[in-house]
Amino acid sequence: MAARSEPHMLPGMAAALDQQRMAALARWTARTLVTAHPVPFAAEIFHSITGDRLMRALNAVAPQNDPSAHAELRTVRLACRKLKSYSLRGYTLYTTCEPCPMCMANALWAGLDRVVYGATIADANRFCRQIRIPATEVAERSDMSSTVVTGPVCRDECLALFTHPKMQETFKTWSSAREILTST
Ligand SMILES: [Zn+2]
Repeated sequence: MAARSEPHMLPGMAAALDQQRMAALARWTARTLVTAHPVPFAAEIFHSITGDRLMRALNAVAPQNDPSAHAELRTVRLACRKLKSYSLRGYTLYTTCEPCPMCMANALWAGLDRVVYGATIADANRFCRQIRIPATEVAERSDMSSTVVTGPVCRDECLALFTHPKMQETFKTWSSAREILTST
């Protein structure tokens, strides 16, 4: 799907900005690959018009022992806390992977203008368990039609987070590893 142009931009400029932000988010996420908790999942929220960054966060399921601590959900939660508002209307969320139904539902409830994703759920599902409902389907079946879903953007850069040797090694320790799922 083509990027919806932001009010002050031509569509091509908005698409280029999406790519620039997603590539930067992928590079930031890649820094986790040398830490104790490597993750391929990160999200970032920008103001849709000013471009100011509001929040950026990683998946923290393992360190926080919280199955809901997905990157998108955490980023929305932290952003809302910062704004002291339950609404993120006027903001755009970028995520290295297409949001799962939980995160997409949360993005819709938050009223985000746009959700832009990198790798697809199918890409992630090669390595870890997923709920195979596309983000666009979750959006289409909601009443929140104002949230536009765009992706994949910089799919190769985001997929490289999953296929990195350190991440491949780490997936084997995850309870949601695809290998464990398929071997049982
Ligand atoms: Zn999620």
